[in-house]
Amino acid sequence: MKKITVGNLQSKPGKRVYGYLDILEHPVGTVERLPVIIAQGMNVGPTLWLTANIHGDEYTGIPVIHKVINTIDLTKLKGTIVAIPTLNPAGSRVCQRHPYYDKKDPNRLFPDGNPFKDKESSDSSEVILTEKEEDLGDDLSIKTESQVEITIIQDTSEKIPNPFAKYETDDLYPSIQETIFKRLFEIIKDSADYLIDLHNAFLKSIPFVFLDRVLYNPELSDDAHKEATELYNQTEEMVKAFGLTIVRESLPKKYVAKKLHRSTSGAALNYLRIPSFTVELGMYLDVEPEVVEAATIGIYNVLTWTKMLDGEIKKLTGVRVVAESESVRYLGHPRVSKSAIIELKVKKGDFVKKGDVIAIARDIFGREIPEVGEIKTEIDGYVFMFNQGIIRYPNEEICWMAVKDNQLMIDKWPKK
Ligand SMILES: [Zn+2]
Repeated sequence: MKKITVGNLQSKPGKRVYGYLDILEHPVGTVERLPVIIAQGMNVGPTLWLTANIHGDEYTGIPVIHKVINTIDLTKLKGTIVAIPTLNPAGSRVCQRHPYYDKKDPNRLFPDGNPFKDKESSDSSEVILTEKEEDLGDDLSIKTESQVEITIIQDTSEKIPNPFAKYETDDLYPSIQETIFKRLFEIIKDSADYLIDLHNAFLKSIPFVFLDRVLYNPELSDDAHKEATELYNQTEEMVKAFGLTIVRESLPKKYVAKKLHRSTSGAALNYLRIPSFTVELGMYLDVEPEVVEAATIGIYNVLTWTKMLDGEIKKLTGVRVVAESESVRYLGHPRVSKSAIIELKVKKGDFVKKGDVIAIARDIFGREIPEVGEIKTEIDGYVFMFNQGIIRYPNEEICWMAVKDNQLMIDKWPKK
């Protein structure tokens, strides 16, 4: 039986074990820690990682993990589930998206698998960082400069060398959350065969799954495309088994620009190269019971698909599933051209056709804004989530639509 270790916690066949992974010592001496559950079946099989609440105000994944862990029959399970109900206790504690000790979006801070990421460079020299292999163990300290070899290549052009390059190279000073996730990523890497990261989207959104494109580096090997195709096919099958609406992520250039390849599931898929996806479970700030129910069945469906459980894949009920036989990707549309109070004319999950009115734009006195008035869609698609509230500034999206996608799902890493 595979032994899985997370921090001080060790898997036990046929048992659920509970513990914590220490991730950070605060300046005031208290320790930040992640709760970990390892539920191991009696029989050999793969390992599924379930993570949730990386955005501290997105709660639905927590009860979904509770439900799966508490109902799973370990005598029938083949393999292991490793669950982290919150990846961001510090954000959750204060009901905000990011941890209070690091203001960056935590879901963009997993290690960067982009082979063409810019080497940090100053005006006149290039700084190359080589990290020394080392066992991080349970050490909470972050990497110091002495653990990183720095090579500064002076530019041969006539530019003046910059003696401060190493002080100006952000890669040398990763934020604390980035450092924490780098360490967690190493732990995930040790055991994960599949990963599902649970999120919430906007207050008005149908639950859905983001299907990321698989990116590959053709310079790596002749088999790079073949490997990427296999990985994509597995991921698509897994996402289909889950059963929610599937919305394809952005095209490669935007995906990398938005650092989505550094999200939990983006890094698992495009760096670790294991089938992974992000689930958006409807509204944040609160929990919709029917969505918890559907997502729990979705995870059971994935367990069935991975053959970790016997049985049939079940259709999800109680939630809206759209675009079942189409390929769609998300697109912010339509937008407002002037500041406005908007009155929506469609509901989440609606299918709209070019020319349909999505909203009416009014001024604060309630009068229709003449140049804007009826805001119509220029594209056919499903309105699957709305930007929050009724106030809109120029160029802000009214909603996000799932529109027909015919772009490659297996594509090359974009070069700048
Ligand atoms: Zn989120």
